Amino acid sequence: MSQQLQDDFGRRFHYLRMSVTDVCNFKCSYCLPDGYHPNGKQSFLTLSEIEHLVAAFAKVGTRKVRITGGEPTLRKDFTDIVRLLADNDAIHTIATTTNGYRLEKNAQEWYDAGLRRINISVDSLDPRMFYQITGENRFDQVMSGVDAALNAGFERVKINAVLLKDLNDKDLPRFLHWIKHTPIDLRFIELMETGLGHEYFQAHHLAGEAIKGRLMAEGWLYDQPSAEDGPAQNFSHPDYQGRIGLIMPYSKDFCASCNRLRVSAVGKLHLCLFTEQGLDLRDLLQSTAQQPALIERLHQQLHLKKETHFLHQGITGVTQHLASIGG
Ligand code: SAM
Ligand code: SF4
Repeated sequence: MSQQLQDDFGRRFHYLRMSVTDVCNFKCSYCLPDGYHPNGKQSFLTLSEIEHLVAAFAKVGTRKVRITGGEPTLRKDFTDIVRLLADNDAIHTIATTTNGYRLEKNAQEWYDAGLRRINISVDSLDPRMFYQITGENRFDQVMSGVDAALNAGFERVKINAVLLKDLNDKDLPRFLHWIKHTPIDLRFIELMETGLGHEYFQAHHLAGEAIKGRLMAEGWLYDQPSAEDGPAQNFSHPDYQGRIGLIMPYSKDFCASCNRLRVSAVGKLHLCLFTEQGLDLRDLLQSTAQQPALIERLHQQLHLKKETHFLHQGITGVTQHLASIGG
């Protein structure tokens, strides 16, 4: 293996979040409130480009790939993408993040192709609130998808919920009730400010610390972090089958455990969710012969990775919404 990717702060990067499309069929109010609008004539990475990309990342230490978007499962060749990753022996974990739209029908097919971890976004367990937040009246469909994923044999089924003041902040008891007897990992994500959403952020940002306080008061215990966890803080409780993770990008030292790099659906490397335009890799994704040059470019870029994001100062970078680089 070539030298592992490492930045100037000693962080190593074994986790790639790879977006495969910007397109989405939901209109989450914190992400794409007006739905997806094509940005000119974009063409997303082809299967062959994805193969070259992943082969190079695997050479420099990537062991886990999360396929994201937009809504990644809207790609007709989604199962082929999973299979392609499964064919690379260096990639030990294949994961995806989805809104669950296609899950009921396809969970088993994706599992059989090699997908092992799945994060499903369910922002509320109240169907009306789910509709209000996502713009789609598909609560039952998504929940059937969650059941299908649990039955298909996934190692871990995680539920992502963005914490939203005055929207889903009354839902905690329902979520807790659900995971009492269901072995899922629930992850509450603090709303992040993006280029589009200053007013929305002001109105709805809720600090994860408030949930943390409530959990601790109810006997939840902080789990010692493992290298796998990345920046999530995890909690478990002897009376509950499920676990809870808090993702608090505004908390101190959030970036210290950063272990991930991102590539957008048009092949741009993003060293952080926020802060930069992304560096084009696509010219070096056209043949296996370009792999050494691609690896060289990755090493060079890693020197530019900053120690932390600048969200605290209200600097959201150029990221208009997370559908463009996959959250
Ligand atoms: N469409 C898929 C989905 O929603 O699961 C995958 C892409 S989505 C951008 C990935 C994750 O980012 C979702 O869990 C979503 O809730 C989260 N997300 C999107 N915008 C966000 C924001 N402004 N702050 C925090 N999380 C956000
Ligand atoms: Fe689509 Fe996911 Fe963004 Fe919702 S969070 S609009 S499902 S990309």
